[in-house]
Amino acid sequence: LIRIEHIGIAVSDLDKANKLFEALMGSGHYKVERVESEKVNTSFYRVGESKIELLASENPDSAISKFIGKRGEGMHHIAFEVGNIRKEIIRLQQAGFEFINVEPKKGADNKIIVFLHPRSTGGVLVELTQEVTEEP
Ligand code: ZN
Repeated sequence: LIRIEHIGIAVSDLDKANKLFEALMGSGHYKVERVESEKVNTSFYRVGESKIELLASENPDSAISKFIGKRGEGMHHIAFEVGNIRKEIIRLQQAGFEFINVEPKKGADNKIIVFLHPRSTGGVLVELTQEVTEEP
């Protein structure tokens, strides 16, 4: 794993959360993006080599809405950048980790992503993310 690419934070109101995080971080978000595959709206902030990703959803069936319903707003996942996502999936499966999806899907910010199940990672939802170099 190369670095922490971003930390995902579940919020119920993206506009409110943007105001809060703008004040907290001293700079505005550099991008907002809708991610259809996850039914979420995202907002990104830079922090050095990493980012903060705010995630909100108006869809009650989305993973984010369910998470907030169960646990409230707050830290949702940690995303690690990888150079070769398919190699890492195989390596981690061989090491006994469980995946929520093993087929990489399109995430925000021009990335392909997979999630590891928190029951195999000490309760932490882990995302692996790889930059997509060519347009899909
Ligand atoms: Zn993420």
